[in-house]
Amino acid sequence: MLVFGTYQAFAACDYCDGHDCLEARTDIPKGKGASGKWKDAETPKRDWTCVEIFDREGTDTCEMCEREEVRFVHVMQHGRLKLEVGCFCAAYMDGTLDKAAAKSRESTLISRLSKLKNFMDEDKWKESAKGNPYYTFKRSEHNPTTKKVVLMKSKFNSKYAYSIISLSEDGEEQDSYRSDYLPSKEIAMKAAFDSIFPLRMRVN
Ligand SMILES: [Zn+2]
Ligand SMILES: [Zn+2]
Repeated sequence: MLVFGTYQAFAACDYCDGHDCLEARTDIPKGKGASGKWKDAETPKRDWTCVEIFDREGTDTCEMCEREEVRFVHVMQHGRLKLEVGCFCAAYMDGTLDKAAAKSRESTLISRLSKLKNFMDEDKWKESAKGNPYYTFKRSEHNPTTKKVVLMKSKFNSKYAYSIISLSEDGEEQDSYRSDYLPSKEIAMKAAFDSIFPLRMRVN
């Protein structure tokens, strides 16, 4: 550390231009014991903001503690640096230490999963006059218009396409999208779901 008289020089943060993160770099959380980037001398330890959350549909190691296996990822940003972390590290990094608040960001992803479970259950589908299976999502917080998903089987093979039809409040068709043929019914169903309820969500 450079010392000029009684003033300590700030070591500029590598990631956020001039902000003094020197103190932050020494702030290692207790708990299970620090690990991974919590212990290095380069990674800023606070003043992070959560900018996005997503469902990894599998797990991978938290990029901060390099220890926890994370499915619901909090994308944290500090200047130019972004890390994909779990809810506990996120609560330390944003400085609130509020694990419940960080965890509550995941509730949207969890309710998305229960919608997905219903949607993938073919008993919940109906059949159109043309004999195509369809499923309706009512308008909700994360779905601004009621949407009808229709599956169409290829005449030539076992591929399926889907269309998504947006309905007005009185049930009129507003607009529709039709996909290309996809390798299987299940893949077409999942693709339709992901386009209505994306895996990634921005956090304000
Ligand atoms: Zn910084
Ligand atoms: Zn972590």
